[in-house]
Amino acid sequence: MKVLKFGGTSVGSAARMQKLLDIVNPQERQIVVLSAMSGTTNNLVEIGQAYLTNDKAKAATLIATLKEKYEAVIKELLKKPETFEQGKEVIDYHFRLLSSFANDLFTPIEDKVILAQGELLSTTLYHIYLKEIGVPSVLLPALEFMKTDEDNEPIVDHITAELTPLLEKYPDMNLFITQGFICRNAFGEIDNLRRGGSDYTASLIGAGIRSEEVQIWTDIDGMHNNDPRIVSNTKPIAQLSFDEAAELAYFGAKILHPQSVFPAQKYKIPVRLLNTMDPQAAGTLITNTSEKDKIKSIAAKDGITAIKIQSSRMLLAHGFLRRVFEVFERYRTSIDMITTSEVAVSLTIDDTTYLGEITAELGAYGSVDIDVNHSIICVVGDFAAEKHGYAARVLEAIKHVPVRMISYGGSDHNMSVLVKTEDKVEVLRSLHSRLF
Ligand code: ADP
Ligand code: ASP
Ligand code: MG
Repeated sequence: MKVLKFGGTSVGSAARMQKLLDIVNPQERQIVVLSAMSGTTNNLVEIGQAYLTNDKAKAATLIATLKEKYEAVIKELLKKPETFEQGKEVIDYHFRLLSSFANDLFTPIEDKVILAQGELLSTTLYHIYLKEIGVPSVLLPALEFMKTDEDNEPIVDHITAELTPLLEKYPDMNLFITQGFICRNAFGEIDNLRRGGSDYTASLIGAGIRSEEVQIWTDIDGMHNNDPRIVSNTKPIAQLSFDEAAELAYFGAKILHPQSVFPAQKYKIPVRLLNTMDPQAAGTLITNTSEKDKIKSIAAKDGITAIKIQSSRMLLAHGFLRRVFEVFERYRTSIDMITTSEVAVSLTIDDTTYLGEITAELGAYGSVDIDVNHSIICVVGDFAAEKHGYAARVLEAIKHVPVRMISYGGSDHNMSVLVKTEDKVEVLRSLHSRLF
């Protein structure tokens, strides 16, 4: 059984929803994961923000505007009076819910409920559309099987346990529709898998049911060899290994949610990145194998803070790095890059929630310097093929730009540099023209 995920643009209008059946084959048993219609989650974030700042008038205006958009969608999508009425009831229900928070004490828990409405709307409306055109399908509520634990880690075994019986209930049904992004957390509250999380949903479901393949359908023909929003003449990559894809996703290739590769990787489920706007395009196939002797792709991750701890006393003494790392562990802050020398260690983080506390505690081990507004530029490829001198070529390409950190040798397929975000565009373009 395959899992097909369609992103925001792929369900971004009534016309796009109607086109999905060019790709989804109702004769094949499959699970279709849908994102919210494009723009909706951003609008829901704004609505939540308005409530959080107690600007109820703004929330009401935003809700009214979004509701009009959905009303226009069903006018185009649902042509029969009875299905149109059902669509209208669905919209009324979800928008009444959004408006109801004006009366409540608003907390981050309610905010998550707001964020969940986009996927609930898109899947329910699509399900009604399928009914209208006579294509049988089952709407599977993701909140019944997608769950995270105390560390906010999704529980694949829970998906297997809950989803398998749901699927078995419909042995003759081919099409199952479900929501990406949303889940329940360890407290049973409605939560989500973070922005872009529908990719993660698809991979998790794929892992949970040991799917034969996961397909991520989006608005571009696969993973490109650089960020197409910044660099022109980027090209799709035919094949990536799970490790390479994970590296690119984590270091900023927006086409994939940062964690989405891991569940598929664990169960060796091939992942294909495909283009809804050009279904015949080959896209990118992600599997266990990788093409050798190549630089594959470049990605960039912004919002990076570098922390340098300088100490004459103990830097390379045993136990010193452990104590440094323990500070980050205490504040549940993960480290992306590390470089060391005899007298100092530098590392980077992207979550600065506890930067003040972390800096204060690190002060016990030496002097601490903070550099904000940096970007990690990650080059992925077969760096083990040393004969090509790839590392030297990377550095040669960016020799005119100040580099704050370099990380090489952590794995065979990655080299990363840390630069000021203001230099990012130049670095991406320069690397592109010299490496490809
Ligand atoms: P969806 O809504 O389908 O999940 P996203 O917007 O999350 O789509 O991801 C697709 C977008 O990712 C593309 O339109 C492209 O602009 C962006 N992107 C960034 N880096 C890359 C890359 N290396 N390869 C392909 N797309 C990329
Ligand atoms: N709708 C969610 C978002 O915009 C999840 C997704 O699209 O993957 O982040
Ligand atoms: Mg996405």
